[in-house]
This record gives sequence, C-alpha cells and structure tokens, in this order.
Amino acid sequence: MASQEIEEIFADIVDRAKTLDPANARKWFEKLTVLHLDGGSLGIGCPDETAAQFLQDNCKNSFTRAAQQITGHLIAVDFTVGARGTQQTDVRRDQSGLRLHPDYTFDNFVVGPSNRLAHASCVAVSQSPGNTYNPLFVYGSSGLGKTHLLHAVCFEARRKFQNTLIQFLSCEEFVNKFIRAIEKGNLVGFQSQFRSVDTLVIDDVQFLREREQSQEEFFHTFNALYNNGKQIILSADSPPGKIPSLEARLISRFNWGLVARIDPPSYETRVAIIKKKAHIRGLSISDEIAEYIARKVQANIRELEGALTTIYAVATTTGSEIDLELAQTALEGQIKASARHISITDIIGVVTGHFDVRLADLQSKKRSQSIMEPRQICMYLARNLTNHSLEEIGGHLGGRDHTTVMHACNKISQAKEDDPKMSRLLNDLTKQITHPSQI
Ligand code: ADP
Ligand code: MG
Repeated sequence: MASQEIEEIFADIVDRAKTLDPANARKWFEKLTVLHLDGGSLGIGCPDETAAQFLQDNCKNSFTRAAQQITGHLIAVDFTVGARGTQQTDVRRDQSGLRLHPDYTFDNFVVGPSNRLAHASCVAVSQSPGNTYNPLFVYGSSGLGKTHLLHAVCFEARRKFQNTLIQFLSCEEFVNKFIRAIEKGNLVGFQSQFRSVDTLVIDDVQFLREREQSQEEFFHTFNALYNNGKQIILSADSPPGKIPSLEARLISRFNWGLVARIDPPSYETRVAIIKKKAHIRGLSISDEIAEYIARKVQANIRELEGALTTIYAVATTTGSEIDLELAQTALEGQIKASARHISITDIIGVVTGHFDVRLADLQSKKRSQSIMEPRQICMYLARNLTNHSLEEIGGHLGGRDHTTVMHACNKISQAKEDDPKMSRLLNDLTKQITHPSQI
C-alpha cells in the first residue's frame, strides 16, 4: 500500500516539477524513479551518471519546491543512479508490521528541562523493557514530542533485542481494530494479537474516553501483559486521573508505574530543536533566524517545525535568501492562523453536515466516492487548518496511516486547482469552520 502511494506521490511531484521547470523537463525528467521517500528526504533514481549529475546541479531547486508543494513538507531531494525497488522505504515497517517514523529517534530528540524525565524514562524502558517502569505513562499537550519518544523507544528496543515483539498503535487504531474484530466475530484473534507481545505501545489513550467496551477490553489486555512482565507504554494529553470518563480501575493501573509529564520547551530548547530539525533536513539556518523562530513560536514544537517549513517554502518559491525580514514576513500569516483554535472535530462536524454522511462512514473501510470524497476533504482541511500531524489526522479518520492522509491532501489540493467547484466548496467549508457564528 505504502509503496503504491509513494509512487503516486512521486508522480505528482514530477508533474509539478515539470511545470516549474519546463525547459529541462522534456530531456531529463522522463526516466526518473523514486528510490525512497522518508521523513525528510526524497531519493530520486536516474538512468545514468550524466543525468544524475545534471539534475543534481540544475534541477534540485525545482524538485525541492515541487516536493514541498505536493507534500506540505520540507524535503531534501537527492539524485543518484538507481532503479525502482532498490531501496524503497517509507515509514519503516518490519516483519511484525511495526511502522516507525524514521526521524523519531532518540538521536533526533533534543533533551531539555521540559522533557528530561520523560526522555530518561523512555531510554530506561528501551534498555530493559518490562523491568523498569511499567507501565510508562507519558503525557503532555499536543505537539510536545510524545509520539516521537514512543517511536524512539521502539527503535531502540528493536535494535537491542532483535527478536522482541513490539506492537505500536494509536489508541484510535486499537479501538477500530477492536470494533472490527467484534463485527467479524474474531475477538479471539484480536486478543491473541495484543496479549502475546513483549511490548505494547498505545499512543493517545485519551481516545478511550467514553468508549466503555474498548476500555473493558483494554483493561484485560493490560492485565494479561502486566501479569506476564511485559512492557506497556502509554501516552495521553493529560494525566490518567484527568482523562474524562476513564474507568477508575484503568486510572489506578496507569498510575502503577511511572507517570512522566512533558512541558512546553524553554527558549533554549526551542532554539536547539529548530537547529536540529534544520540539520536533519540538510538546511543551513543562522542563529539569528533560529532565535527569531524560537521567540515567535512558543507552545508547540510541531508549530516550530511548521515555521521552519514556511520560511524555507517562501524562500524557495520566491528564490530569495533567507534573512530576518523574509522570516518575519513568512511567519506573520502562520502565527495569525495558529491563534485560532480549530479542532478536527469542528472540521468533521461541518464536512459530515455538508455531505450528509456519518462519522462512522468516514472512519469505515468504505471506498465509494460518496464517502471517499468527504473523508479526503476532512483530511485536507485538517492538514491546512490545524497543527495536527498526519498520523493524528489519520487516527481521527479510522486509523489511516500518514501516507494515506498525505495522498488525500495532494488529491484534494490538485482538485482545488483543476476544478473551480471544488475550490468554492473548500472555501465555503473553511468559512463555516473558521467563522461558525457568521453562517
Ligand atoms: P505529540 O505526540 O506530543 O503531539 P509529536 O511527537 O508528534 O508530538 O511531536 C511533534 C513534532 O515535534 C515532531 O516532529 C517531533 O519530532 C518534534 N519534537 C517534539 N519534541 C521534540 C524534541 N524534544 N526534539 C526534537 N523534536 C521534537
Ligand atoms: Mg502524538
């Protein structure tokens, strides 16, 4: 699935690059293949050394812009000689189906006073799963690094204990799998899948609220693993006792091990994170700009990254050098947008109302056009109007993974360009979401 979607995304990127650089397109862009597309980098395979060298010297900019426009991310582009299938990777998926974001490692995590305890406990657990803090419960507001740390534990535990069985999933996926298992009458399969692992990692357990039957199932899963000395790692946006309508017996179990809070990062940590993110993507950034971003964006690390992306996008699109003035102009719009608080639930409410579909349909496996289109529109709007990650957006819409969300966003944004009706519809929906009182 991921591989086909990568091909489609790559085809979109090449098409976009052709329109950005028509002069070189005919001779050089035809025989390119995608070697890999991970977190921050796109590897493009060229037919021979001459082509690779030419593209590297002359077309890097147009491909960087195209990749940025299509994926919404800053992506470092690299041309080498190679053919399709030689090194294709996306989010890493091993035999057990574990999907991890390649950037979310301990090496790429900046430690500061706001996350020191959470980081140290994650490292400890990765070194000795089941034997230190069990369960480990990490909590903090959105965009402060919970998912990143959870992935890092899995990478490290997997590296250290190659045969260990790890299940990592968002709570939404857990709930959806559970519901599907009940529908198919395959509860036993579901239970054995989760009760036989060495480490179970569930991200965003606040999604268990008001899901009584899932809480009951999770309680039994928890007990089975805990009693066998298996590691459980959980994250949430608040401490166990503050998750609305979470059963008391779950609250008490979540408190048995270590509960570690992540706070918003200090100024120094924010500067270090911006530099780290720039470095991962192969971008150079001056101290002055890093400090400017860190002063402007304070509460959420995802927004910090977004700020960096925006600045580079403006710089590549306008072909200008990045200086303080450009950074200020680029960020003005973004800071205004983040002042509004729009939730995915607001978006889903407006979209389901407009199309007269049910949320359950959007979250289902149905692929008919009448369901696919509103689902993809929700993803597109959530991507553009909120700071949620692709994974979180996918989580709200039936546990879909980030490549699916990315693909949906590209599709809708292309449709918006091609079809004035779609463009009007998106404008109307956006207005309803951002100014509900005026409708
Ligand atoms: P959460 O799950 O808490 O909402 P994420 O783990 O998705 O947040 O983090 C949002 C973004 O911020 C990710 O790109 C992540 O890599 C980055 N991030 C968060 N904390 C740090 C950190 N301490 N060092 C580097 N990157 C970080
Ligand atoms: Mg998260």
